[in-house]
Amino acid sequence: MFRLALHWQILIGMVAGAVLGIALNLFASEGQTTVTERLPADVTEATIHESSADISLSYTNDAGDRTTWTVKPFKEADDDPDRWVPTLEELQKIDPFAASIYQSHGGTAATKAGIWFKRLGGLFLRMLQMVAVPLIITSLMSGILGLGQAQGVGRMFRRTILYYLATSILAIITGLFAVNLIRPGLTGEAPPAVRSAVVAAPLSDVLFAQLEAMIPSNPLGALVAPNFLSIIAFTIAFSLFTLSVGGEVADRIRAMTTAGFEVMMAMTMAIIHLAPIGVFFLIAYVTATQGASVFRSLAWYVVAVTLALAIHAVITLPLILKFVAKRSPIEFAKAMSPALLTAFSSASSNGTLPLTLSSVEQRAKISNRTGSFVLPLGATINMDGTALYEAVAVLFIAQLHHGQNLPLSAQIIVALTALLASVGAAGIPHAGLVMMVIILQAVGLPVEMQGIILAVDRVLDMGRTTVNVWSDSCGCAVVEALELKSSQATDSQPASA
Ligand code: ASP
Repeated sequence: MFRLALHWQILIGMVAGAVLGIALNLFASEGQTTVTERLPADVTEATIHESSADISLSYTNDAGDRTTWTVKPFKEADDDPDRWVPTLEELQKIDPFAASIYQSHGGTAATKAGIWFKRLGGLFLRMLQMVAVPLIITSLMSGILGLGQAQGVGRMFRRTILYYLATSILAIITGLFAVNLIRPGLTGEAPPAVRSAVVAAPLSDVLFAQLEAMIPSNPLGALVAPNFLSIIAFTIAFSLFTLSVGGEVADRIRAMTTAGFEVMMAMTMAIIHLAPIGVFFLIAYVTATQGASVFRSLAWYVVAVTLALAIHAVITLPLILKFVAKRSPIEFAKAMSPALLTAFSSASSNGTLPLTLSSVEQRAKISNRTGSFVLPLGATINMDGTALYEAVAVLFIAQLHHGQNLPLSAQIIVALTALLASVGAAGIPHAGLVMMVIILQAVGLPVEMQGIILAVDRVLDMGRTTVNVWSDSCGCAVVEALELKSSQATDSQPASA
């Protein structure tokens, strides 16, 4: 029977989800509700008016006083500054009663459907989360134990880190280039700042915490959390010591992990077939709930980030793939497409990891030894898209704040902190936002200004996560090619050497 290739199925799921979501957002995001019953004794009436651009919520008390809230991402000139909030979460903090009216009586067909799409897409993400930890452990162990000797791990580690560093720096340079060229913050239509409640620890603390995570005081606790960096560090240590103990012990552990890995891989491959449906719901959720209005005043900023991400993904990484890994970028992208499309719709590198691992090994034919080493580490510390994004966003905020570009010295500080922040960012949705506070502080910009870009973060997160996963995947091809070269060189040396 004819069956469409998986990447086409996922693409169709994605387009169908987007069409449904956009249609809902266009045609079913208007609504007006008047509530007169089941209200507290001192409230006589409440009304909710919703459109895709904003929510207006008002209630009247028995003395006749009327309170009206406007909920929308950007404040406009005719909005009362004291009665405007960017999100419903913010309203919950300031006026919990108003928020509760919305929760019990509000919600258009688009927002209600959006909640269900999120839940249903969430089932697919849960399946991926379910396999992530056992898959990473068995995959990493069978990879390292398959090496047969400990020295190989050191070499692979150095190469992997070098690749991560080089591509992240290239990504940041591309970001700086785009934001200096387009100057999105100097176009004259600056959106007003939104309150932002993110508080960040100093960068040194964040990075030191990463180092601490590599020495888990309780490896089982790390498994349960799950803390990927701790799990990876402990698994590598355990595997290396298994190799050093050697003999029958190593053989037994090797047989066990290989068996476990095979089963986990079979499970992941089964889940992969659900990706078209999962992606359909995730995209429908985003498009149904995020109206086009959020793009209005941030259009140039979105253009700058997207352009830079595209240059990195479509030019820089493919060139590395072609000339260092000697692979066809198009074929490789096709092989990685289930992972890339899932990264785009889920905005989570960690969540996508099981698909990245299986696509690299089963579809791109990269050895388990390389894939299992490069990818889990990459999902946590190699984030080209995030590094690039941080650089563009902070320079955009600086342009808005100072009315001019940051001087070169400050841009270098942004670049360095963006690199470190991308290492520290977790592979989950919106992680990059939290880390950005650190960079803003490093160059003395007001943290609240981050609120300006909140509205478009989800969409940009989808793009940068895809680039993060794409860079990890290209890293596998590069490391694999270099490893092959080294092993051929060793094989061709005379036996006495
Ligand atoms: N969502 C991104 C990821 O999972 C991290 C970020 O927010 O930049 O890779």
